[in-house]
Amino acid sequence: MRPSTYFSGENQELFLQDIRAIMNLFQIGAAGPPLGRSSWQQLAEDSFYIDNYAAIEADAVRVSTAVFVRESAAVISFEQAHQAASLPVEAAKTARRLVRLNLLLLMRRITGEKGGPWGILSGVRPGKMVRKLLEPGLTPETVIDKLIGDYALDRDKAELIVEVVGRQNRLPQFRHNARQISVYIGIPYCPSRCLYCSFPGFALPAEAAVGSFLTALAMDLRAARQLIDQYGLELQTVYIGGGTPTSLLNEQFRQLLEMVKFFLGETVPAEYTVEAGRPDSLNQIKLELLKQYNVNRVSLNPQTMQEKTLKLIGRKHTVEDIISMFQKLSSMEQFYINMDIIAGLPGETEADMQDTVTRIAALHPDNVTVHTLALKKGSRLKMSLEECSELLPGRQTTENMLAIARQAMAELNMHPYYLYRQKYMSGNLENVGYAKAGTECIYNVQIMEENQTILGVGPAATTKAVQPLTGQIKNCYHPKDVHTYMKNLTTYLAERNAVIAGLFE
Ligand code: SF4
Repeated sequence: MRPSTYFSGENQELFLQDIRAIMNLFQIGAAGPPLGRSSWQQLAEDSFYIDNYAAIEADAVRVSTAVFVRESAAVISFEQAHQAASLPVEAAKTARRLVRLNLLLLMRRITGEKGGPWGILSGVRPGKMVRKLLEPGLTPETVIDKLIGDYALDRDKAELIVEVVGRQNRLPQFRHNARQISVYIGIPYCPSRCLYCSFPGFALPAEAAVGSFLTALAMDLRAARQLIDQYGLELQTVYIGGGTPTSLLNEQFRQLLEMVKFFLGETVPAEYTVEAGRPDSLNQIKLELLKQYNVNRVSLNPQTMQEKTLKLIGRKHTVEDIISMFQKLSSMEQFYINMDIIAGLPGETEADMQDTVTRIAALHPDNVTVHTLALKKGSRLKMSLEECSELLPGRQTTENMLAIARQAMAELNMHPYYLYRQKYMSGNLENVGYAKAGTECIYNVQIMEENQTILGVGPAATTKAVQPLTGQIKNCYHPKDVHTYMKNLTTYLAERNAVIAGLFE
């Protein structure tokens, strides 16, 4: 019988998070609080018991992991030479990695399942770890072998992440410059709420309410500008996201772009992006405004080119609308155009993904970001999962969809250049940004690799302060709720000022 719940042993405090992470890969939940070892024989048939033992010695960390089911016990044991055992933090990290690896291999043996292609890596930014592995001069091949051996990644994922990091390292704009920053501006409105979205995208309110919001945003931008002046910072990129910024009415959208120009300077940074999201949020006037204010990147995000799915996920536009808006944007010859798609949408098959990427390829966008569906808390999809769980493609299908997209991107001569993972992702997979050489969105790389300080402006925006010397990161958050943001803005701005002062004073 496949176990569906587990108990961990007592004295496992150091490993509880690791046990949970691996059990999540196999959709096995904790049955209750930790149990004493002698209790394992009273387990229910579908539960099992996990115990780890770690010994930290002068030159090695030895970990053995035991999994007990009612009839039998499976024990697996690994050891690893560890040069820095005298450093307790390093030794504990190694012990935790070995516990994860042991458990993953055991669970693969017990369930006959793989638990996803990323092995024991569960972080959002696998590239950061790979960059550290490459730093001491290890060859890409050695790092790939290490990812497979020490972290149980599938070879194609190990090769993918090493390729992404290598490409990022070769981007001249990625070099660390302590005084160079980016600004992210969040606009919290959307034409309607997509089924899978957990972002509190509010429907556009009455004009007066948007006016008050824009007044608050101006105050936020002014404070950001003061920080730039005070510390002699240089702006590398500006990114207006959300929500869907282009869901503002024409005049409101003009005011937004005018404010950005006024506060962030006449000199537009080399990279200025606006997320247009859906084609039904754009019109000829907004296109002209994008051009007039020197925006040079636009993200038009179909998510799928399947009519049936657009309806199901709550989009109010057609595939034809996407194609026609893309052609308008493209004919203006001013923008690098990104398109986002999602693998694993309800009701979709590999054939749907093949059709979607074929239609996207026909448009020749500069960038394509291939997301994996994430079942985020607070999304309508998560809440209605019981009704439509049978519509969700399985783990293997979603993995195949990503492979189809990757192949299509390679045929378009587009290369993977940033990659991140999220919680609650279908199949424990990944999101990958592809670009034609020279068209990479630097903001995406900077934020995902936490390589640069980002000032967050607007509701739900995060300010990420990256310590220039140590790389240490301090985040501060604006609230998601627009009214809370407006009401307590001075408090949030003071917090942001303090975080940035901590970097440069
Ligand atoms: S997915 Fe994007 S467009 Fe859809 S509701 Fe969420 S933020 Fe808005």
